[in-house]
Amino acid sequence: MSPRRLGTLATVGVAELKGVGDKRVEALAEMGIDDVLDLLMHYPRRYVDRTSQKSIGDLAVGDEAMVVATVKRSTGRRTRQGRSIAEVDAFDGSGYLHCVFFNQAWRANQLKSGTEAVFFGKLEQYKGRRQMTNPVVDLIGDRTGRIIPIYPQSGKAGIQTWELAPWIREALDRAGEFAEPVPAVWRDELNLAGRTWAFGQIHEPETMGASQTARRRLAFDELFRLQVALVMRKRAVERASEGIRHTVEGELVRRFHEALPFDLTGAQQRAWEDIAADLSGPHPMHRLLQGDVGAGKTVVAVTALLAAVQGGHQGALMAPTEVLAEQHFLGVRDLLGGLDVPDPATLTGDRGLRVELLTNRTPAARRTKLRAALKAGEVDILIGTHALLTEHVEFADLGVVVIDEQHRFGVEQRAALRGKGTDPDVLVMTATPIPRTAAMLVYGDLDLTVMDEMPPGRTPITTVWARGPMEEGEAWGKVRDEVAAGHQAFVVCPLVDESERIQARSATEELERLRAEVFGDLRLGLLHGQMAAADKEAAMDAFRRGQIDVLVATTVVEVGVNVPNATVMVVEDAGRFGMAQLHQLRGRVGRGSAPSWCFLMGEATTPDAEERLAALVRSTDGFELAEVDLDLRGEGTILGTRQKGRSDLRLASLRRDKDLVHDARRVATAILDEDPLLAGHEILADEVRLLVDDEEAEFLFKS
Ligand code: ADP
Ligand code: MG
Repeated sequence: MSPRRLGTLATVGVAELKGVGDKRVEALAEMGIDDVLDLLMHYPRRYVDRTSQKSIGDLAVGDEAMVVATVKRSTGRRTRQGRSIAEVDAFDGSGYLHCVFFNQAWRANQLKSGTEAVFFGKLEQYKGRRQMTNPVVDLIGDRTGRIIPIYPQSGKAGIQTWELAPWIREALDRAGEFAEPVPAVWRDELNLAGRTWAFGQIHEPETMGASQTARRRLAFDELFRLQVALVMRKRAVERASEGIRHTVEGELVRRFHEALPFDLTGAQQRAWEDIAADLSGPHPMHRLLQGDVGAGKTVVAVTALLAAVQGGHQGALMAPTEVLAEQHFLGVRDLLGGLDVPDPATLTGDRGLRVELLTNRTPAARRTKLRAALKAGEVDILIGTHALLTEHVEFADLGVVVIDEQHRFGVEQRAALRGKGTDPDVLVMTATPIPRTAAMLVYGDLDLTVMDEMPPGRTPITTVWARGPMEEGEAWGKVRDEVAAGHQAFVVCPLVDESERIQARSATEELERLRAEVFGDLRLGLLHGQMAAADKEAAMDAFRRGQIDVLVATTVVEVGVNVPNATVMVVEDAGRFGMAQLHQLRGRVGRGSAPSWCFLMGEATTPDAEERLAALVRSTDGFELAEVDLDLRGEGTILGTRQKGRSDLRLASLRRDKDLVHDARRVATAILDEDPLLAGHEILADEVRLLVDDEEAEFLFKS
């Protein structure tokens, strides 16, 4: 029999396996396992190595150990603060172990009296008892092997981890020998195990070392498939397009830079050099500009837009939300005030540079006019939301596209905007720092520029986690002190999931509460996404002019708001916000010369929130925080929009496998250099089609 391709395994449903009846099929489907390939790619989360099992009686305080014991008693309760505590006593013949679980109320149920379980943890002595706090627990049934795989999720769907083992055994038997997508020379060079061995050992390892070697091989495969897709995409775009050679050293760019009230930072200069080289080159630019909040990306992006305009082309800037588009519009218009562009049709031979805004809020009549002007080439720079993508929006000659992405646009949308011109240059900006390795995955089809330097004059921000009522009082006190000293403050209201409208209402209520109970004597203002554009602008304007002391707002202030006189940011119920969001919010202060504070209010409701808030207190470096976030959330979240379904990276971890990411990139590049459409790498091509997002794969092989 010829070696098995993964695709053929995907055609065998799990119902064909012995012992898998209708109920099991359903439960497996709930875990995302429909066919034999899904099952084989459902990898163990960890292993229990029973050779390293210890007896409770032998443990000393401070030892980290694994014990196997039978639960004798379990109870659950809540503290007055609403925290749940589960307590379990277990016995293994040599001694008793007391386990305490915080915020894991379900443990009391899982670990009923009589259950045998594996406990990993550190032995402590507490009130005379031998105890583990939040140990890792696995139920392994009565399996006896030396190394036992523990599978994720299984419990929830009603399938126990030990039920999977025989099915996987059968699936491995059926698979037999696996087809090998990675050429032998590369396997040798990178010291990668064979695929058949790897699938066997990841599920049924002979030693812990073998499971690691297997994991490394299969993680490489994941990264490799993705890099092949990304490099192919990059090449396809390059092949298919002939870009505009922009003049980067023109009058407009020069005058713009001269008119800036500051010198460009080194990072801005370097970024502009990268971009200028792309713009003047033969292929369209495809670049990601990454920089922390406040790094000054806007100036760089506007320079790129002006390079298009000075050559007689148009520029477009797309933002993910209306508020952000509006902010960009106001900011860019400010930056560009007074600049002229050549226009032979006028008496003076030039006219004022024209920047316009288009969002779903633009009234219909105005939109019609705008479209006509755009098509006639009278609008130089158009700023907007995804409204720019609608089919009625036509440019006369779109030269440069800037996409302020913040994780919110997909590959398709980028392609759609690019399609509004003939191969315009594309600059994607993101203010959410992504570790370099992650960027290589998420944006592997783009070139990367990182702006790693802040404009001068920024002052450090002191971050305080105000966990309890006492600290909250201090936060409000600081707001008062700062206002008394002539400064201003933001208060960001708790995040409400439901809708923008509810969010807006809660902001309004919070404003009333603060006015009545806390800041009766201060001038308060309100800002939320449901306000009319004019009202929002009025509120922002009043805040900018110092007519408002405390701006009570929703997350609309997350982006673009630049008021150097604001020195305090209070985020209520901060545990509910994501890391990136909190970092962005904090970035609204510390923009002037006075020292600033950020107060993160409230208890952490989850262990992740706890770590997130602690990290924010510790560091203001966006890249460092991004690494922490990556650890907490796993790469799935970062990669979420790019990959769907089966193609999620399951084993590869950006932290652990940095080297593999680079290796995968290198091999992908080398193979595609010789064989751009993978004509001679059929197995690999098959797998990319099968496991990388459908639409994307289709695009790759078509062009
Ligand atoms: P980002 O978009 O990267 O978050 P912005 O472009 O909004 O940052 O810039 C943040 C602030 O810094 C703006 O007020 C901008 O005018 C200012 N700024 C930008 N570049 C410089 C510079 N080189 N020197 C001083 N201030 C700068
Ligand atoms: Mg900005």
